[in-house]
Amino acid sequence: MRLLLVEDHVPLADELLASLGRQGYAVDWLADGRDALHQGASEPYDLIILDLGLPGIPGLELLQRWRSGGLATPVLILTARGSWAERIEGLKAGADDYLCKPFHPEELQLRIQALLRRAHGLANQPQLQAAGLQLDEERQCVSRAGVAIELTGAEFRLLRYFMLHAGRLLSKSHLAEHLYDGETARDSNVLEVLVNRLRRKLGAEVIETRRGQGYRFGAPGL
Ligand code: CA
Repeated sequence: MRLLLVEDHVPLADELLASLGRQGYAVDWLADGRDALHQGASEPYDLIILDLGLPGIPGLELLQRWRSGGLATPVLILTARGSWAERIEGLKAGADDYLCKPFHPEELQLRIQALLRRAHGLANQPQLQAAGLQLDEERQCVSRAGVAIELTGAEFRLLRYFMLHAGRLLSKSHLAEHLYDGETARDSNVLEVLVNRLRRKLGAEVIETRRGQGYRFGAPGL
């Protein structure tokens, strides 16, 4: 999953980049609202974390402009503790959730997971499930019928994306855009290797290859 973090407080941004990275998210970071206005609308982010007090364009205006331009990406706003007016304005402007600073990193992690499940119509799943598999996002492993299967970090990131999009045909370029941040070189051979490793661990039938089109995880009937 690829996230945009818009936060001008550098120590907090550094901390969030490190913790979100450990949780397997590819994160692009911007500190100025003017840069975020265009990039948030043009890059295919799965979720945006938005500070409200920003240089350039304030976070609230940014959110209003994104929403009026048709952007439907889930947005979680970061607000000052005690500022209920700010939270209400943010929710009215189209935020999906908020966190008050300072917050515990685990709370952000759980809110991100919940927002992403909700955005994919999976609000009923406290843990991601598809194709007979259950994903443990905290331990970054998967289980089938109670038997745990260990995953590398890269395998976990790909499998989480597949499980959020079960049954959908995903091209390699689409997968690369959502698994890597804007700075990382995208190599479709790496994706092929990862898909093959997941097939060996989970069973070849779990991921279908459509030649020239891409992959489909968890075809109906699995
Ligand atoms: Ca700020």
